Amino acid sequence: MSPGSSTAISPRARPCISTWVRNLPNGGRSAPTRARLRLRRWSMSRALIQLASVPPDDLAAQDRTRREAALQLTWAAKQNTDMVVFGGPDPTARADLLQLLTLAGVLGLRSGIAGGISRLGDDAFLERLVGSGLAFASLPVFGEDAVRHDALSPAADFQTTRDVLKQLQARDVEREARVILRRENLSRLAAIAESLFAYAPLRIVFAFEEAGATGSMPPLDAAARAVIAALLVLADSPMRPDGAELAFSGFPLCAIHVFPDRNADIAPWRTELLEASAAASGRIKTARCEGCAEKSRCGGVEARYLAVSGDAELRPIPTTRSNSFVYRPTGRIAPFDIERCPIQNGKIPVGNAARRLFLANGDGVDVYETDSGDFTDAEIDRVRRELGQIYLDLSGETLHTDFQVEMAKLHPHPACVACPAYINCPGVWMREPADVFALAEAKLLPWLEQLSGEILDVGGGPLRYASLFGRLLAEGRIRYTAIEPSPPALLTTFIERHASSARLLPIGIEEYPAPQARFDWALVLRSHNHFRDLDLAYATLFAALKPGGRLIAVDNTAYGMVRSAEAWDRLAKLDGAPHFEHYRNHTSEDALPYFIRAGFEPIERHPVGPRTANQWLVVLRKP
Ligand code: SF4
Repeated sequence: MSPGSSTAISPRARPCISTWVRNLPNGGRSAPTRARLRLRRWSMSRALIQLASVPPDDLAAQDRTRREAALQLTWAAKQNTDMVVFGGPDPTARADLLQLLTLAGVLGLRSGIAGGISRLGDDAFLERLVGSGLAFASLPVFGEDAVRHDALSPAADFQTTRDVLKQLQARDVEREARVILRRENLSRLAAIAESLFAYAPLRIVFAFEEAGATGSMPPLDAAARAVIAALLVLADSPMRPDGAELAFSGFPLCAIHVFPDRNADIAPWRTELLEASAAASGRIKTARCEGCAEKSRCGGVEARYLAVSGDAELRPIPTTRSNSFVYRPTGRIAPFDIERCPIQNGKIPVGNAARRLFLANGDGVDVYETDSGDFTDAEIDRVRRELGQIYLDLSGETLHTDFQVEMAKLHPHPACVACPAYINCPGVWMREPADVFALAEAKLLPWLEQLSGEILDVGGGPLRYASLFGRLLAEGRIRYTAIEPSPPALLTTFIERHASSARLLPIGIEEYPAPQARFDWALVLRSHNHFRDLDLAYATLFAALKPGGRLIAVDNTAYGMVRSAEAWDRLAKLDGAPHFEHYRNHTSEDALPYFIRAGFEPIERHPVGPRTANQWLVVLRKP
């Protein structure tokens, strides 16, 4: 029998299914040998079973692989799986595909197929698959027309693929078009997707995978940016019909970290390999992935790609961390005469100076301590003595939204700063009379007033400067592009209000397919510490700026907060893991090497110090 023939499998073969089930270990009631199949234990909504290519005359191999597939089906049924998807080089070339579909139905599973579709063009065969329970099909697509598709496709030609999509649509079978990314088609992803809209409802998945196609896999970075660019174009496309969903797959999370609900590898509707081995999936992680915060969630990259291109494009994702620590009250020392300092005189032991703090209060000092596990002693010491970033909580709120009103800056007593023992002493702290937050803003605002031309704002700048930016937009002085992966409603509303000259891209700077030399100004207003990859971020901004264009970077260092006993108690009783957004707490000194490496020249810098707020400002220029 020929595997290409629709008569290869007789319907009479179906009774064999019960024999398969009976012959499974313990009548199919127990799990198959996990050591051999390494099956996942958790339930999944869609499970992928890879069907090997078997020569039609190798009956022993056919029998063995069919039994393995049957074992996996039985296991999937026990795991409350909704659908099994038969994949492999070309599941339709398997002589036993109809039998497997029928077995899946007997076990209460819906069935799908993914991969090559050499026989789906045969209408009668497709009819029989549907009759046997086919509920889903995923087809590879390479181009938007016959010339481009056929030049890359290793199997079904353009016309067959489109005919099959049409037939699936007519039979109301759920369908997915996998646009296999190649160097040759990377610049036309939106056009390819638009050519598939006629088959909606369907899901269009941009797939970074080998898929046996001709042509070559594109560089990972280029592929990721091309996919993001296509998604952004298609999101606004008036041609996109209801039911045409867009997704991507095969990308490590360091390449595309946005749009998790479009990521076919991690979205709730994902299809997971039933056989949980790297060898089965073909995707691996490398030594560079050690320490990556997303290592457990990430699927890695195709091993064949890494073998050719190496892993230099993998950029481990740092772990987020706290940006503040809390001092709580632990006692009082009174009287405390700083002019005859009892600590300098050796009358009072200081303990761990990095973790204690004395707050001047009347004739004595209140003693505060921090037991923060988020900061080392050395980090706390730097925040306290070098940066002087200690604040008094005025509002008692768990979260502060208006630092200027809710927090008072503290500074070390001048006698402490001059004292030789200060290096090993908590020091006495007192309220700073100046409004340090207003002073910090006063350094930034004149720069923002100079904005003109094309503005690229990375983050949610307009939330704080909405009236200033709104005025510049109304005056026609600026055109405004914001990049923000999680845009808050206020930012969305701002963009909608100024839609004629403002737009929002819901992505991170690391995903931004930046136009070259387009912008006059780039703004990084409190988003530097949110960047996953600083080198990539500033290289992107450098490329996006015109020669002579300027970058304004502002961010906040870590700080310590002196809290009351009541506020501390409320904090300590909070449930759940804390939510951190910073990957780091850079000072301007820490950030400077990244600007310089990208090619920027500093024009003006305002670092953080004991008498300033914790906000630094650096203005730079692209030569
Ligand atoms: S560094 Fe490795 S584990 Fe982390 S996202 Fe990239 S590929 Fe995945």
